[in-house]
Amino acid sequence: MFKNSFRLPFRLLGIPVYLDVTFLIILPLLAWLIGAQMPELLQLMVEFELLPDDPELLAPVVEGWTPYLLGLAAAVGLFVSVVIHELGHAMTGRVYGVETERITLWLLGGMAHFKEMPKQKGAEAVVAIAGPITSFVLGAIFFAVLGFVPLEAIGVFVVIYYLAIMNILLAVFNMIPALPLDGGRVLRSLLHLRMSRLRATQISAAISRALAIALGLFGLLSFNLFLILIAFFIYMAVTAEARYALFTEAMSKFKVSSLMSRPVVTVPPQMQLGQVLEKMMAEARLAYPVKAEDGEIVGQVTLEQVQLSEPSVPAGQVMEEAPEVIEMDTDASELFERMIRDDQHRLLVVDADGYVVGIITKTDMMRALQIASTGPSGAERR
Ligand SMILES: [Zn+2]
Repeated sequence: MFKNSFRLPFRLLGIPVYLDVTFLIILPLLAWLIGAQMPELLQLMVEFELLPDDPELLAPVVEGWTPYLLGLAAAVGLFVSVVIHELGHAMTGRVYGVETERITLWLLGGMAHFKEMPKQKGAEAVVAIAGPITSFVLGAIFFAVLGFVPLEAIGVFVVIYYLAIMNILLAVFNMIPALPLDGGRVLRSLLHLRMSRLRATQISAAISRALAIALGLFGLLSFNLFLILIAFFIYMAVTAEARYALFTEAMSKFKVSSLMSRPVVTVPPQMQLGQVLEKMMAEARLAYPVKAEDGEIVGQVTLEQVQLSEPSVPAGQVMEEAPEVIEMDTDASELFERMIRDDQHRLLVVDADGYVVGIITKTDMMRALQIASTGPSGAERR
């Protein structure tokens, strides 16, 4: 989902921000939707006595391109609000010593990717609730700012009003106790105070699924496509999250060093691809790290590259970047996260001094996972 994303040319509080392609579709769509509904929006605000019932005052807002420009401003403002919400999570994570790798904006808003979750019990609840609190405060600030905007600047007034209300709604929506929403994380973290993390995830996952189904039914009955979409998203995400928790739990019993293969079989840069292919067939491998004469791993050559080039080409000419490294003492649960989240197929295992001592592939990991999750402790997940 986040493979096709563009990085903004600046960092916010040291965190890079990415725009997913789905975001680039939703932004103009949202701008257009808000623009097209501007007359209804004004009507609603008049009915709630947020705006005076003065057609002359309101007229400029619905003239020509103005509603769409205001829609664009509101849509951009909304996403900036979402980024600030994510920064709220990120800054609270920092208090627990956990860094945020990136913030991604996509179809359904924002997402802060933590390098790891804070290990302290209850920390996840604090980090999770920081987002809605940030949105709530932001909404309050927008309401306060309204007091200083003259009614003559009616366009600005309407946009700020919209943002004030949306931030409050964002806070409320995110407090629904369904994973992966913030409220679901708060719930799980609180349950985790009294039971294992796995059990806490399972209980909150069950609650989340029930809420998703209820939300989906409500969406169906009220013909609200957006609600159905959200419900579907929650259901899919919570199922993935529960499985992820189970796998991480299973993997936490291992260290990387016990899963790796050693020694690392490498090829020299000058070896021709024809020979590399023969070696691959003989040893049933899909890739080799390429090792220079000085002993350094300088790249890797994969089956794909071998198939795409002439057999006489030396490996060093087509090789890609060397696999990333992981320390041998690392918990295998972290290995699992890195391979799945960053979609790494193989990692070089290094000792504390940075010497390459082994290699681990996704296949090695999946095999370990299968064994671990069918073991005696795997049974307790029923
Ligand atoms: Zn949040």
